[in-house]
Amino acid sequence: MTSATPYRFHPHGDTLTFEWTVQDFDGEREFTVTGTCPVCGCSMTHSFGPIQPTVAKGGFLGRRKSPAEPEVWSMSCACDGYHQPRPERLGGCGALLNLAPPPAHLTTGG
Ligand SMILES: [Zn+2]
Ligand SMILES: [Zn+2]
Repeated sequence: MTSATPYRFHPHGDTLTFEWTVQDFDGEREFTVTGTCPVCGCSMTHSFGPIQPTVAKGGFLGRRKSPAEPEVWSMSCACDGYHQPRPERLGGCGALLNLAPPPAHLTTGG
């Protein structure tokens, strides 16, 4: 297997459906996606890190309730492929991906 795709900043227009997993750490949730980059074709796993649940109490009186419509999550390709010329400390092929949000049962239930 060669990774012939050169590193290039490349916004990818489609919304992708990756596989979501979630872990709980002391009340914070860490979302991880697994899928295949449509630009370079490598599979990857990317963690979004601990994400605090939506504010549950205090401090934001008067703030509008956010709409229930699903948001698209964006991330850069995070594969381990060898795409050059790539800036140091960055991974992937430079593609900017839009992901369908995690399913509701991962973002709500406990
Ligand atoms: Zn890629
Ligand atoms: Zn790749």
